[in-house]
Amino acid sequence: MTAPLYDAHAHLADPRLEPYRGAIEQSLKEINCQQTVVNGTSPADWHAVVEYTKSSGKSLPAIGLHPWQVKDAPADWKAQFSQLLNTGAVTVIGEIGLDQWIEGHDIEQQQAAFKWQLEVATQRNLPVSIHCLRAMQPLLETLLTAQLPQRGIHLHAFNGSAEDARRLVELGAYFSFNAGQLKPNAKTVFEAIRAIPEDRLLIETDAPDMLPPSEYREFELPPAKSSTRLLNHPANLHAAYKAIADIRSTSFNQLAIQVEQNFQRYFIQTLREHI
Ligand SMILES: [Zn+2]
Repeated sequence: MTAPLYDAHAHLADPRLEPYRGAIEQSLKEINCQQTVVNGTSPADWHAVVEYTKSSGKSLPAIGLHPWQVKDAPADWKAQFSQLLNTGAVTVIGEIGLDQWIEGHDIEQQQAAFKWQLEVATQRNLPVSIHCLRAMQPLLETLLTAQLPQRGIHLHAFNGSAEDARRLVELGAYFSFNAGQLKPNAKTVFEAIRAIPEDRLLIETDAPDMLPPSEYREFELPPAKSSTRLLNHPANLHAAYKAIADIRSTSFNQLAIQVEQNFQRYFIQTLREHI
């Protein structure tokens, strides 16, 4: 049996994975995946996230308004968000963040939604899962002027530079990487992976998205019905650990022990004094 593994960011309640749910849970058992943070992206999927995590004892529910969904969010999304948080069923806020890669983005509108959700996380000292694509400057500006959760923050699929990482470490950031980021020419990502202090490193899959290059694919899923694009199997988490251990010149087991401690400290152990 391999060391216990933890997926810091995935979308296991995504309807594209529904037909394979039983097989996926079996594969996650085989790789000894202990916990997965299951993220939502808009009010349309928040209840599915909570239901999924209720029926699978091995996941933490996260709800958040994703930057891609900000424009189409219903007018009462904040009320729906607060209501669900108040039930106590949700323990993580994600996926939230900023994105200037997506066509037609409105960074100010994204920033307002991001700041508000970050504030809620700070008040309740909840962990957050942050998405940042081509938006490092506005992200840093926001983080430097906001109050942050006492337990720190989490940058998912981190694709900033090693220098950005150093600045974010000072703000209490944790960083996760997935095997889909490990394209042969992704020099910046490899450098960032090596630069993260060992007590701030997490691993993720972002499944069913972020399909890894074939050498990091240990599990396959058929393409989604509506497209020919292959889905990322959540059990590729094992391959991500292997690849990241190699990049950091450490052993698989050493990395697994460290990531377990980090996952527990950030997502689970910290006292929720403000609830
Ligand atoms: Zn995601």
